[in-house]
Amino acid sequence: MSVVEKSVSELHELLVHRDVSSTELTKAYIDRIHSADPDLQAYLTILEDQALAQAAEFDRKIAQGEDIGTLGGIPMALKDNMCTEGVRTSCASKMLDNFIPPYNATVTDRLRAAGTILLGKLNMDEFAMGSSTENSNFAKTRNPWNLECVPGGSSGGSAVSVAADEAAFTLGSDTGGSIRQPAAFCGVVGMKPTYGAVSRFGLVAYASSLDQIGPLTKTVRDNALVMNAIAGHDLKDSTSVPYEKPDYTKFLVNDIKGLKIGIPREYYGEGIDSDVAKGIQAGIQTLIDLGAEVEECSLPHTEYAIPSYYLIATAEASSNLARYDGVRYGYRAEAADVLGMFKTTRAKGFGPEVKRRIMLGTYALSSGYYDAYYLKAQKVRTLIKQDFDKAFEKYDVLLSPTAPTPAFKFGEKSANPLAMYLSDVTTVPVNLAGIPAISIPAGFVNGLPIGMQLMGKAFAEGTLYRIAYTFEQNTNYHTLKPNLGEVLARGNR
Ligand code: GLN
Repeated sequence: MSVVEKSVSELHELLVHRDVSSTELTKAYIDRIHSADPDLQAYLTILEDQALAQAAEFDRKIAQGEDIGTLGGIPMALKDNMCTEGVRTSCASKMLDNFIPPYNATVTDRLRAAGTILLGKLNMDEFAMGSSTENSNFAKTRNPWNLECVPGGSSGGSAVSVAADEAAFTLGSDTGGSIRQPAAFCGVVGMKPTYGAVSRFGLVAYASSLDQIGPLTKTVRDNALVMNAIAGHDLKDSTSVPYEKPDYTKFLVNDIKGLKIGIPREYYGEGIDSDVAKGIQAGIQTLIDLGAEVEECSLPHTEYAIPSYYLIATAEASSNLARYDGVRYGYRAEAADVLGMFKTTRAKGFGPEVKRRIMLGTYALSSGYYDAYYLKAQKVRTLIKQDFDKAFEKYDVLLSPTAPTPAFKFGEKSANPLAMYLSDVTTVPVNLAGIPAISIPAGFVNGLPIGMQLMGKAFAEGTLYRIAYTFEQNTNYHTLKPNLGEVLARGNR
């Protein structure tokens, strides 16, 4: 087994016992990126020199006997909407093509403090708007399980680089499913934490009341390890919650006896691929065999989640993206006067999906329509949250497919925004309610991975890890790898 295929916890053992140095490890990942990424296009920026310098610094420290922590020396990568001081942060948009942040996001700082090595920045849908990474202005990220298929989105690069061993772990952001759905499409583990559990400081805002950062990893243990490093209160983010951060690895026990799992029937309705439903059903049976108590339940307002999400998210986006006016930073178009400059900058700087959402959101917020659309959507949001509150009085977690279908083909949905929006039906309610949810590998349909989503009470990430870990220990889906033979051969040519 090549070193790049190993989990974070395995790599940690190798580093501690000096079986491998961080420099060797970093070189191995850079080699892998050079051979796999010409086809897969997960990376927008590769930080070869900086990564090797960070690794050398780490190797000096370990040689001096310094404590390396659980993530020290581990090569990872970040979605390109997380600010990295001195390193371009483009959000896959022409608008931020030349943006070099003068500061780090809190997650960037925390991972640096943990001793990780930053390999580069990852492709995404422009400003995290999308479900396939097809809205990137710069690259076409492919699904390593089938190059004709999308990797999911918006954190497509974050999922692909983990699945194809181009990074030991990555971070993504999730506003309506953008960590979980690409994790499901690529066969990796993705956690969307409770709103406020991980700082958003330095995350380029899409929809501020929904955005959360979280880890994408090969295993559940790795995911808990990364959460340990990034979660916790941050004074720089006013929506960050001061809470007692647990050691998430404490929840990694192979035992779910007596836990109560609710199966919301609305998540198995129209639009859910029957093979996906069957696959998840088999996963549920595994959990029953392991001692969980499973029961069908109802989240009656689920059908209103998509419309209310696409009103609230676009309204917030229209406000957040008003700052890109060509004046302060980012792209600026030439024009005869100031007004012309604003207009041309925004016309040329944003791609079609971003513009569509700014228009939708501005309309929803405009006077005369505010009450009918935005305010109504906020009220529905409360009803959706109350559905969850009620369900959690009875159940420890709720379980559903992460996405209604496996990865779809390029172009299959991109011409029809509504079809693309509907593919988020199983993920957006979680963001509206602010609760945590994890996607774990749960089988295959037509050779493509599918994900099982576990949803929990606010700050119950630990319970999600416990069930996810137990499922993982008793199944082998997470050990199966895409066949990259031809991809690597082409890249090495
Ligand atoms: N697909 C959803 C959207 O387009 C979610 C995106 C996300 O979570 N960033 O808004």
